[in-house]
Amino acid sequence: MKKEIIKITDLSFSYKSEVILHEVSLTVKEGDFLGLIGPNGSGKTTLLKIILGLLQPTSGRAELMTKKIGYVAQKAGFNAIGFPITVEEVISMAGGSQEEIERVLELTNIASKKKRLLNELSGGQQQRVFIARALLHNPELLILDEPTVGIDSQSQNNFYKLLKKLNQENGLTLILVSHELDVVAKEVSSVACINKNLIYHGQPQELLETDLIEKLYGKNQRLIAHHH
Ligand code: ADP
Repeated sequence: MKKEIIKITDLSFSYKSEVILHEVSLTVKEGDFLGLIGPNGSGKTTLLKIILGLLQPTSGRAELMTKKIGYVAQKAGFNAIGFPITVEEVISMAGGSQEEIERVLELTNIASKKKRLLNELSGGQQQRVFIARALLHNPELLILDEPTVGIDSQSQNNFYKLLKKLNQENGLTLILVSHELDVVAKEVSSVACINKNLIYHGQPQELLETDLIEKLYGKNQRLIAHHH
């Protein structure tokens, strides 16, 4: 039996009177690669905050069985930092020995750029730097929040290859949060769709074959979901 990493049981959450999450139950196990998917405003970030203990559920429970968590926030905003900081420096800000820093640079295939300034790298390369930093303390669970926003499709492909490697070769448990259902469903091993309720949890293939997508996103949204 694989170890449970997250166990969410009958969880509901309200901001004042507005119900944001309603009786969500979901288990994430070691080695899972879960896509947490839903339209904007569907409660994904709220659920993450509850899992991380930043918000308390109104009812039900969220148990997190590991303290070793890496988190990669949405890239947006980082470009706003005009501060001249190198790749190596960004990573070392999270602590770790030189040896560990070299290890994560190699793992994410960004070692050749370590002396470069962060804001001179492409969006996709910057993404690798943030993943490298999140991997520094050997997390058991890596959570990525809308990681591909603003990244070109070639870089996205490389990004998903990297995640697959981390999941399959390094056994890292991954949660990828996104509103881009079509794109994400191809990459992950299981999908949890939320829109206040947990609408679906299972294989991505089955989801793509049902009409749930239309129910979630509206009829024309499969196309629109690719664009920003
Ligand atoms: P998602 O991450 O799926 O886009 P969120 O979890 O951020 O969705 O938001 C879910 C809902 O909760 C939205 O309707 C949003 O407006 C509302 N919400 C988020 N944060 C707050 C807050 N601090 N106070 C009141 N409502 C909030």
